Amino acid sequence: MIANYGYRDGSGTYYISIDTDKCDGCIDLPAPKCVEVCPSDVFEVVDEDPNDPLREEPVAVVKEDQRNKIRFSCAVCKPASGYEISELPCVKNCPKGAIDHSW
Ligand code: SF4
Ligand code: SF4
Repeated sequence: MIANYGYRDGSGTYYISIDTDKCDGCIDLPAPKCVEVCPSDVFEVVDEDPNDPLREEPVAVVKEDQRNKIRFSCAVCKPASGYEISELPCVKNCPKGAIDHSW
């Protein structure tokens, strides 16, 4: 399923989406790539998916305290990537292609 984290306001819609069918928590790597590359500490990997209690694998989520400010947290990456979503560090480095951004 697609888990959306973020918000909408008068200036736009700001959501990070994680495809939980693709994300495996980077279980075979020393550390989750999205956690490793994000300069704003947006992600964490949890053992139990808050959106799917039946899931038994670790999964990445956007940290609770980031969900209402991701537009600002991600501003550090957006100009550097030329505003290409595919060039954002989290999107580019996810080995499963599980992350997307709405803006
Ligand atoms: S980098 Fe991708 S596969 Fe790895 S934990 Fe993050 S979202 Fe999941
Ligand atoms: S765009 Fe940058 S700051 Fe935002 S989640 Fe991705 S790596 Fe982190």
